[in-house]
Amino acid sequence: MRAEIETFLESLERAEWLALSGRVASAGVEAIYDRHETLFEPDAFHAVEPPAGRSRDDLRRAHLLQFLAEGIEGHRTRDLRDAYLAAEAAAVVEVDGEAIPYRRMPVRIRQESDRRVRVTLDKARVATLAAKLNPISIDMTLRRHEVAAELLDTDYDDYCERLSGVDFDALEATTEALLAETADPYDDLLSHFGRRALPGLDLREMWTHDLARLFHGEEYARLFPGDRMVSGIGAMVAAMGLDLTAGGRIELDIEERPAKTPRAFCATVRVPDEVKLVLQPYGGHDDWSTFLHELGHALHFANVDPEQPLEFRRMGDNGVTEGWAMTFDHLMLVPSFLRRVVGISDPGEYLRFAAFREMAALRRYAAKFAYERSLHRQGPGPARVGEYVARIHAATRARAPEALWIEDVDPHFYCIRYLRAWMFAGTMHAVLRDRFDEDWFLNPKSGPFLRALWAQGQEGRVEDLAHGLGVVKLGFGPLMEMIGERI
Ligand SMILES: [Zn+2]
Repeated sequence: MRAEIETFLESLERAEWLALSGRVASAGVEAIYDRHETLFEPDAFHAVEPPAGRSRDDLRRAHLLQFLAEGIEGHRTRDLRDAYLAAEAAAVVEVDGEAIPYRRMPVRIRQESDRRVRVTLDKARVATLAAKLNPISIDMTLRRHEVAAELLDTDYDDYCERLSGVDFDALEATTEALLAETADPYDDLLSHFGRRALPGLDLREMWTHDLARLFHGEEYARLFPGDRMVSGIGAMVAAMGLDLTAGGRIELDIEERPAKTPRAFCATVRVPDEVKLVLQPYGGHDDWSTFLHELGHALHFANVDPEQPLEFRRMGDNGVTEGWAMTFDHLMLVPSFLRRVVGISDPGEYLRFAAFREMAALRRYAAKFAYERSLHRQGPGPARVGEYVARIHAATRARAPEALWIEDVDPHFYCIRYLRAWMFAGTMHAVLRDRFDEDWFLNPKSGPFLRALWAQGQEGRVEDLAHGLGVVKLGFGPLMEMIGERI
């Protein structure tokens, strides 16, 4: 079975990479699932003995069970996913006689400084979402719920909790505390930056598209030039004693192609031997941040020990790889990185903005986690719409369009991977500072230290990695300290 899983994952990642990098028109995901159908029969899941303890063997089986369950969900929803992607690609939004591709709308909206135009654009986008995509998303959610009932005879919340090995109640208690602790500083930052980026708007009337406009951070664009991004970060990685291509295992694709997705991404075709890092360097703070994030994923997977079993190379807690990705993108919150790598002489005001953006993202994910638990326990329905809007408003102070109640949900509670990755990244920055000083990202000793940790792949979960570094309890403390120092 393991050899077939390797083949399946390689085909899937390669197909998605070819499509997203603009080399082929369609990924053909459905056909790949069909070729490996036997992997995604409930029998394959039930044939694996459930883990009984915390031995290496137990972990392997836990990772495998989670992979198989997610694979069964993927297989059962494969036609809907293709339908969703096709509908999304074909959708065109008509605004004042202009036809705009649906996928281009988020960028168009955050670039629009005239609020009346932005409101019209967002209304049109949301109407398309509600009519064309939400019916597919609702069906997809219901099918996932059926898989949970079939495999573990329970609801989707409990099913994901058991498969992930993460205590959801404990995590929710932590995120609720985070929401309470950050409420006042968030409001202060919002009124400071809101007045500047959204002039004339009463912030009590703010919508999520206003917030997207604010975080677009147009005034900082010139600080982060696109043409210096790859060379600057490449030189930094070399100073750490690492190599941007990991000895040729990472293929960097910066070529321009019309159908190439504008957002950087990393595809793990074979781990560790064939990792693709795809981007189009436009510049701007978001572009730098995304490149650092995807580079963290690429370096992690390209440095996994090839002797590790499949379950530890390609499965496991994705909070780990998200944690490495965030360790890199959180360099955007480090003053000496902004000075020495990006070349900003006085990064103070940008740092405050970056800390605000970080806090807003954390608060939004905390709200999303609580909301998704409710959705998956109680099922889709009209009551969820009001709950979604209320929770997002409480966390961000922005009013969200009602139609996002089913769109703004990641399968398999991927939000917990990010929440835990945030804790891990804050912790890692503290560890790296302690060992290699404030400018650890230019220290030749930091690379080999990280490479040794990356070699494990995703054998342990984020807390296991943290324990190995002497951290007793993983929490938001170090990250909050980092953010606090910037504001
Ligand atoms: Zn990521």
